[in-house]
Amino acid sequence: MKRKNAFEWKTVVLAAVLLALLVALFLLTRLALSDKRPSCGANGEPLRTAEPTPEPTLLDLYVYFDWTETVTIKVYDHRADKLVDMDLEEYIVGVVSAEMPVRYEFEALKAQAVASRTYTLYSMAHGGCHTNPDADVCTNSKCCQAFSTHERMREAWGKDYTNNYARVAEAVMGTAGEVLVYNGKLVDALYHACSGGQTEDSEHVYANALPYLRGVDSPYEDPMRTEDVDFDDDALAELIAAKYPDSGVTADNVKEAISIASAYPSGRVETLRLGKTTITGKQARNLFGLRSTMFTVERTQKGIVFHVRGYGHGVGLSQNGANGMAKHGSDYREILLHYYTGVSIGSYDENGVGPLQERSTPLPEETGIVLVPED
Ligand SMILES: [Zn+2]
Repeated sequence: MKRKNAFEWKTVVLAAVLLALLVALFLLTRLALSDKRPSCGANGEPLRTAEPTPEPTLLDLYVYFDWTETVTIKVYDHRADKLVDMDLEEYIVGVVSAEMPVRYEFEALKAQAVASRTYTLYSMAHGGCHTNPDADVCTNSKCCQAFSTHERMREAWGKDYTNNYARVAEAVMGTAGEVLVYNGKLVDALYHACSGGQTEDSEHVYANALPYLRGVDSPYEDPMRTEDVDFDDDALAELIAAKYPDSGVTADNVKEAISIASAYPSGRVETLRLGKTTITGKQARNLFGLRSTMFTVERTQKGIVFHVRGYGHGVGLSQNGANGMAKHGSDYREILLHYYTGVSIGSYDENGVGPLQERSTPLPEETGIVLVPED
């Protein structure tokens, strides 16, 4: 009897000690997580929910980021051929996922979110999607902005889907409702992949000279974003003659026939001479399949090499440059104010454009949401 009692007493003590250890471990973990939260916000490290659901929603982040506004837009999904109502911020998550590499710096993703949101609302204020009259926007990048559904994100990201979604969603919700304004109005927030070191004045690419779309330097781009495109004489002459038969270009004269006639101060080609014909830099880019109009022409033994810098039209935000600025310590507001001349950051809700509303981010304990840094 006595021995059995002693045994039971030992078991109770052991269980109590184990329980106390577990409680202490739990409390320490909570403390560590809540300690990390302010520094995560401060240094821009991305966060994710502790127990992500297979299909994350923005609802938790709405609470976390003290965001209550909802603006519903009509999105035409060109792959599924259907019109869907979507929350503006949810749509922007899909756009940022498709338009910028998810591994870009967190502040660059935030800059992209503000640019894409502004671009969307500006387009809606100017007639919406041009190819689908019933839609505010469509998911075709050739018409509006590229967009990834959850299904496409899963395909593209595989096992990283949940973490990547949370990363983009946080960049979007951390800037929810923020837009770029000039003289109190939304701006046409054009952007491109990489400028090649210098962005372009809008009137050199599009019809209008817009005061906030001026060429600026883009000093921190990845210098590897250059491309050499080479043609032999026969292929080049054939290509030119098929499109511009009056140019008089043949395989025998193509080396002498092709030369840059004029260039903009940025280094982008304004006009290119092809024998008796002169075409614009944009036409040359399309004809030769170049990444941008920032190119030089080199004559080689067997033909011509185009040395191309940058990727895209070069107007507005350079995504690669934004990533470089973020790496050098700029936050998303500094990035945006660099690439869009003279703009300010305002807010947008169902009533339209207004001054920037600074929101107070509630502490995790108030929301009941536990966020942990991404590994
Ligand atoms: Zn469209």
